[in-house]
Amino acid sequence: MHCPFCGAQDTRVTDSRLVVDGDQVRRRRQCSACGERFTTYETAELIMPRVVKADGSRESFDERKLRAGMLRALEKRPVSAEAIEAAIERIRQQLRARGEREIEARDIGEAVMRALERLDQVAYIRFASVYRRFQDIDEFRAEIDRLAEEPHSETSDGEPGR
Ligand SMILES: [Zn+2]
Repeated sequence: MHCPFCGAQDTRVTDSRLVVDGDQVRRRRQCSACGERFTTYETAELIMPRVVKADGSRESFDERKLRAGMLRALEKRPVSAEAIEAAIERIRQQLRARGEREIEARDIGEAVMRALERLDQVAYIRFASVYRRFQDIDEFRAEIDRLAEEPHSETSDGEPGR
C-alpha cells in the first residue's frame, strides 16, 4: 500500500477492525517514511475463474458483459431488476463453486440459458436462438416445442426452485 502523501511503499497497519456487517475491514495505516496516518477499507473480492473462449484465448470474467447479454434478452419483459441481479449472483456463485481457475465461455452461456429459462421463457428463446445459433428453423421449433411440453411450476418471479 503506497502512502497517499509521499508515495513511499512502506506503510504499516496500526489497527484493523471489521466495519458494521463484517464485509469490510477498516485499517489504520502509518507511513514509515513521512509518518502520516491514513485509513484504508478492504472488501473481499471473490476471484472469478478466467474465461477460455472458443478459439482458446483467455480473458477475465466480465460481469458487465454477462449482464448486458441478459438484459438484451430480457428487454421489455416483465422481470424485475431484483430478479435479474439475483440470477446474476447465482451464476457467479455457480461458476465459482466449481473451484476451477479457468472456465469455458460455453459453460457461462449454458449457465445464462438456465437462468433465463427460469426467469422468462421469451427471454430464454431470444438468448438461446442467438447463443446456440440454431442451425435451421426446425431446430428452433423443436426447442419451442420442448418448452411447450415441459410443465413449469415456477412463476416468473425469479425464485430459484431449490
Ligand atoms: Zn508517506
